[in-house]
Amino acid sequence: MQFETVIHDGTVVTPSETFKADIGINGGVIAAVAERIAGGERRIDAGGRLVMPGGIEGHCHIAQESSSGVMTADDYYSGSVSAAFGGNSTFIPFAAQHRGQSIADVIATYDGRAAPNSVLDYSYHLIISDPSPAVLEELPGVFARGITSFKVFMTYDLMNIGDAGMLDILTIAKTHGALTMVHAENNEMVKWMNRRFAAAGLTEPKYHALSRPELAEEEAIHRAVSLAKLVDAALFIVHVSTRGGADIVRREKLAGTKLFAETCPQYLALTRDDLDRPGMEGAKYICSPPLRDHATQEGLWQHIRAGTFESVSSDHAPYRADATGKFMNGADAPYPKIANGMPGIAMRLPYLFSEGVAKGKITLGDFVRLSSTNAARVFGLDRKGAIVPGFDADIAIWNPEEKRTVTLEAQHDNMDYSPFEGIEITGWPELVMNHGRVVVEKGELKAGRGEGRFIARKPVDTGAMPGHRAVEFEVAARYGQEIAP
Ligand SMILES: [Zn+2]
Repeated sequence: MQFETVIHDGTVVTPSETFKADIGINGGVIAAVAERIAGGERRIDAGGRLVMPGGIEGHCHIAQESSSGVMTADDYYSGSVSAAFGGNSTFIPFAAQHRGQSIADVIATYDGRAAPNSVLDYSYHLIISDPSPAVLEELPGVFARGITSFKVFMTYDLMNIGDAGMLDILTIAKTHGALTMVHAENNEMVKWMNRRFAAAGLTEPKYHALSRPELAEEEAIHRAVSLAKLVDAALFIVHVSTRGGADIVRREKLAGTKLFAETCPQYLALTRDDLDRPGMEGAKYICSPPLRDHATQEGLWQHIRAGTFESVSSDHAPYRADATGKFMNGADAPYPKIANGMPGIAMRLPYLFSEGVAKGKITLGDFVRLSSTNAARVFGLDRKGAIVPGFDADIAIWNPEEKRTVTLEAQHDNMDYSPFEGIEITGWPELVMNHGRVVVEKGELKAGRGEGRFIARKPVDTGAMPGHRAVEFEVAARYGQEIAP
């Protein structure tokens, strides 16, 4: 058999095994994995390197306006380039509905932003902020297009859809095999805290972290899970930032709930003390849920090791530290008027590798699961996330020994700061391939604008999770009334 590309002499890592093998690629697809593969129009030497499934970034904000109208600094070009330099082959940003907007309009808008620009394969999670009857009617069509995950918010006045709205979304998602993702924070607790701080004149960035208590996340995670259980729908909790929240996820998974979750590097690398930097420096570290403390970091690592989280995602939300981003309401705006979010799409995997694998907190198999394989399964990318014949040739070749100090330039994004700057890293992705195309090689971009493809995704795979049967629906059925969703 002849191959267009052969990757040879590398150490292939899968969730379960690490072994020496060559990989033959044809037509963008892995055609063979074998001990020795001769030939190949192009031969890529992976001697001394790790050959892993390319990362799948499942949580990032690209070319997206916040509900208050600020555009992210990264578009689909710079966002996908930055993702690729960070070891990713595929990403799934959000397509965000603003209130009153039709879903058809949302999708057309994001298609226009992504298709001409992305260097990587992509899909979207649909953000729903206004679940009106007309919008709910549009959702099956979105699902049919292969957009099989819907994200909702329990916080922010302009995004929060309320418990009943969430039950409607969960029910439709369940009917179609779609996945509901949720930002879980108790909106009223946050607003009440904000009023207390405002009344006391406490508006510096550091009060942002205190205004969104751990309890606000824990309460909302518990409520979100309860809503999902009522209708036995699959649920994904994004950016879990507390030990208590992770404990709830763990307990519910043990009980068989159809539940998935992620955490993010910023909750492992940074703390609320970073918001207390001099002047307005702290604004760079404002994100929601907020940064916590060192005990939380340890707790989250324990949960990563124990398998509580499917993935570690970046939640890349790039707002520059200038009037186009963080300071759109002035250079000394009070914290509620500073844009929320921080960049990190290029640092997610190097940080996870360095802190996790190189420091012995997780195995190489864990790294592959957390960076790629689980996201493929949960988000319905059925030809990605594994090095197996028939799968897309989405591959990242890592030098596990390379040491670097993180710089802003190495991010390749459109940002003017990196919250990870100065951190020492061991392990770096040297070559990233997407669908057989080399995208990044030895620090150089090799792919062109618009070469990435939209990938239609499959229904969420809840595997053998038993789920939850609400007794009330069963009793109603005994009364002869079938009202279960
Ligand atoms: Zn986010």
